[in-house]
Amino acid sequence: MTEDLIPAARPIIGDEERAAVDRVLRSGMIAQGPEVAAFESEFAAELVTGRTCVAVNSGTSGLHLGLLAAGVGPGDEVIVPSFTFAATGNSVALTGATPVFADIEGTYFNLDPAGVRAAITDRTKGIMPVHLYGHPAAMTELRAIADSYGLRLFEDAAQAHGATLNGAPVGSFGDFGMFSLYPTKNMTSGEGGMVSCATDEIARNVRLLRNQGMEKQYANEVIGFNARMTDIHAAIGRVQLTKVGGWTRTRQANAAFLDENLEGVLTPAVAEGATHVYHQYTIRVPGDRDAFATALREEHAVGCGVYYPIPNHRLESLKGYAPGLDLPETEKAAREVISLPVHPSLSRQDLDRIVTAVNTVAKAGA
Ligand SMILES: *Cc1c(COP(=O)(O)O)cnc(C)c1O
Repeated sequence: MTEDLIPAARPIIGDEERAAVDRVLRSGMIAQGPEVAAFESEFAAELVTGRTCVAVNSGTSGLHLGLLAAGVGPGDEVIVPSFTFAATGNSVALTGATPVFADIEGTYFNLDPAGVRAAITDRTKGIMPVHLYGHPAAMTELRAIADSYGLRLFEDAAQAHGATLNGAPVGSFGDFGMFSLYPTKNMTSGEGGMVSCATDEIARNVRLLRNQGMEKQYANEVIGFNARMTDIHAAIGRVQLTKVGGWTRTRQANAAFLDENLEGVLTPAVAEGATHVYHQYTIRVPGDRDAFATALREEHAVGCGVYYPIPNHRLESLKGYAPGLDLPETEKAAREVISLPVHPSLSRQDLDRIVTAVNTVAKAGA
């Protein structure tokens, strides 16, 4: 292999992020403080206008605290996809509630409203769609279902900063929406999560839960966590926030190039009224998927990922919640998907190499 590997993902950290960290370190004020407060209001203004945002130490904490803040607990069921990162179902289980796995539709890899409807019981408290790969879930249909059954709607927007549906940003549909700030996501704070809250009550509850149940020092109102973000992380996030819009446009341009030039594989679709922010550019390949991915990596030095090879309802950790469950579209996607590099650091030459590699491997396998 003569060429350098094109990485599947690459966080972009520049001089401004380094300077921001240095500024905070020199201030001597490192823990949650003014940088976190500024990051919260700037994040809302940039990505979920009109919402109150609360920063926490990870996306997983954001989901967990958001669910607790909305009153989810033991005895409740929350409907989630199985075709996602385990944090989605984990966060429900951590509240003591039961994650109920529903199937996805076959086009956008997101929760199928018909599958959600079929999973509703008299214990169902809410529905938590994931905007997988950066494509909005079917929020209009899910909102209608939630309203007709009196259910709460929550959003796992970990992968979808800036994605919109009918002009409204993800994170503005549910009681809360969670954005992850992990390094491989569309923007990062190092580690971190942001919870966009629909009501003052949910925002207040998330703030209480992130800080030992205190609003006033040593006047603890409820039992809480330490899920605070540091000012160091917030300073990185504030800089990244000024760049994420441009990075998203580059991701979309990279995706358009791949859409136009890939042959012999199924490229990602975008629903009417939706904007896709391409956290991942995920194709379906014919034949042996694992052999396809190995050929891309080893013969063409094109990094790629499989998200996710094992559906959550079959993971050792979560399968106890789903005995005997069969989710055919979830299983099919888990067998067929490959995510190609689409990140904003790709050069035109990288994109050409990705196209040549995919088309060559697809043709050889056809
Ligand atoms: C990354 C991710 C999370 C968890 O976020 P962390 O910041 O890593 O805790 C949750 N859900 C989905 C779909 C994710 O991709």
